[in-house]
Amino acid sequence: MKVTNAEFTISAVGPNQYPTDQKVEIALSGRSNVGKSSFINRLIQRKSLARTSSKPGKTQTLNFYHINDLFYFVDVPGYGYAKVSKKEREKWGKMIEEYITTRENLELVLILVDFRHEPSTEDVQMREFLEYYEIPYRIIMTKCDKIPRGKWNKHVSQIRKAFGKPPEELFLTFSSETGEGVEKAWEWIESIVLE
Ligand code: GDP
Repeated sequence: MKVTNAEFTISAVGPNQYPTDQKVEIALSGRSNVGKSSFINRLIQRKSLARTSSKPGKTQTLNFYHINDLFYFVDVPGYGYAKVSKKEREKWGKMIEEYITTRENLELVLILVDFRHEPSTEDVQMREFLEYYEIPYRIIMTKCDKIPRGKWNKHVSQIRKAFGKPPEELFLTFSSETGEGVEKAWEWIESIVLE
């Protein structure tokens, strides 16, 4: 898809702030610093529409980016390193849960994990949660440029195993540095937003 228009819409702290124009939403989940902002920026070919930051987990909001007046990327940041109290974390967990289980516009969740590491417990739980609620998901393995190609298969099978071996076609090796995986990611997105 050629992106001609990409706009940050809102950092929502609750459902009353979510967009009301009934466009398809594609959410990105994953721990801070995994490369969510870089993923969005690479796909839409903007340097910094989605804020990339080296300070993880500051803001606990759902960030909506409106693409081509057609759909939203929803950045779901914050689990993992977030330096927040237990109470805040619970509140955040509830907000994510509510968004994912009740939001009718949500049609796909991309779980981003670092290709170099085992997925976190939260990543694994997120997949189980999505499976349970029958929400389509894909697993994007970011920063693949940091691993030599000869080791890719090994990393894919380790990550796949940690997730409980979902079908291999749900996984994508991706790099916002080299552009690896960009076409496939767009195929997935287009098959949903252009259907
Ligand atoms: P977010 O917190 O999930 O939004 O993560 P960011 O997109 O801000 O990325 C965190 C850091 O990882 C930044 O320094 C990025 O430049 C770097 N990064 C993100 N994606 C990649 C990638 O595919 N390859 C490499 N080498 N670095 C990446």
